[in-house]
This record gives sequence, C-alpha cells and structure tokens, in this order.
Amino acid sequence: MEAVGKDPARLIRSLELSGIRSESAYKVFANCHRLEKKREDSEWLEYEIRGDVALKRKGKYGMDSRTVWYVVESQEEYDRLSVQYHGRVLLCDRTFTLDTLGGKSIPDTKSLHEVRSVATQVPEELPYTWPLRLSNLPCNCKYCVVNPSNNDCKISTWRHTRDYNMKLVGVSPAHANSWVGSGVCMKAADGLVIVGLIVAYVHGKSQTWSVQFGETVHSWTYEKVCEAKSLFMKTMVSGSVE
Ligand SMILES: [Zn+2]
Repeated sequence: MEAVGKDPARLIRSLELSGIRSESAYKVFANCHRLEKKREDSEWLEYEIRGDVALKRKGKYGMDSRTVWYVVESQEEYDRLSVQYHGRVLLCDRTFTLDTLGGKSIPDTKSLHEVRSVATQVPEELPYTWPLRLSNLPCNCKYCVVNPSNNDCKISTWRHTRDYNMKLVGVSPAHANSWVGSGVCMKAADGLVIVGLIVAYVHGKSQTWSVQFGETVHSWTYEKVCEAKSLFMKTMVSGSVE
C-alpha cells in the first residue's frame, strides 16, 4: 500500500521546502488534512459513468476518496481537536489494552505476525485466561485457512505456529463495573468461609474494588477479587455456607 502514503509524503516534503514544518504527528495530520477527498469529487467518477477509456489511467492505486484521521490517547485532547476536525479524531485509550495490560505482553512479539483467538466462549475460570494461536508469518493458503497448525502449508516451518494462553491481569472498565453488586467469599481467621459483597469499583492506574464483609470494607486488586469471586462460586455450588 505504499502508493497510499505517497501523496502525504510528497505534500509534507514540499511544505518543508517552503518553510512549513511538520515536526510532530499532529502537524502531519493538520497539514495533510487538505488531502481529504470525497467520492463525489473524484476525478474518476465522470469517466466511470460515461465508461470513458480515460479511466484506464486510474490504474491499480487510483483513489476515489481519502480520509485523514488522527488518533489521540486522552478524552481532553479528543474534545479539543474534535471542534476543528469533527469526525476525524479517534480516541484510543490504551490504559486498558488487554494484550499489554500491566506491562505484560505476549512473549517474543518482535517475530510475531499473526495472532488468532481460538476461544469459542468466554472463559469461566477467574482470572480469565484466553487461548491464542500465534504464528511468526501470516498465511492465507487453502490449508492455513482451515487449520492454522497444519503441516501441508508450504511455509509451515517458518510460520512456527504455536498455542499460547494469555492470562489477563485486569478487565475492561465496563466489565469491572459490572462486578459491583456481586457476591464474594473469603476465609475468616477462624477458617470459616464468610460472604461479602463488591460495593464499588475504583478506576485508577491499577484496578481496585471495594469489598464489604459485615462492617469491614477492603480494597482489593484484580487478583484478590478473582480469588474471592471464585470462592463464592464454589461455595454456592457446594452450599457449605451457614
Ligand atoms: Zn499456509
């Protein structure tokens, strides 16, 4: 898709030559915004309608429309820039990107080019562990489409397909909030299992939940809450709570 980036690159270069700098990603966006093109304004549309032979010049990479987006990471930036560039600013809050949550990522990411989720249902066990199938090279051949870990693919040796279980160290904020009101259990000092309730979710750099047992409120991390929720589940099934 190199042809797609050719016009912006050319524009940035010619602007630089005339003294207009694009020193940041935002400046590149602001300067390239003028390259936006709607399908109605496409030079090719007229030819298409008339079936004009001049359409040939469109070739493989001729473009009908072009949209230029800018990705920001904070709501404030999003609100501020959306005023001027309405609909062209995308918000990508990376705080809870699950595949790198808590600085934990899939091992050896540098050689990795294909990640498939092979889960068929939401895992039941907490903390959630998602099964993944990883390959060093992507492939869409007739064998790989059916089964990524086949041995008939010509490049299967280089693909190095393997399974990996990704254990999450947190959940999305919406999911975290949905736990408020659920039951939890813990073992008291005397060894008895007592029942409590998740009363609040605190959204911060690390996720915490306020968990209440009688008069006492604890602030618990994801790991601890998972443990308490699991114990609650088990206890309810076995019915061993007084
Ligand atoms: Zn293949």
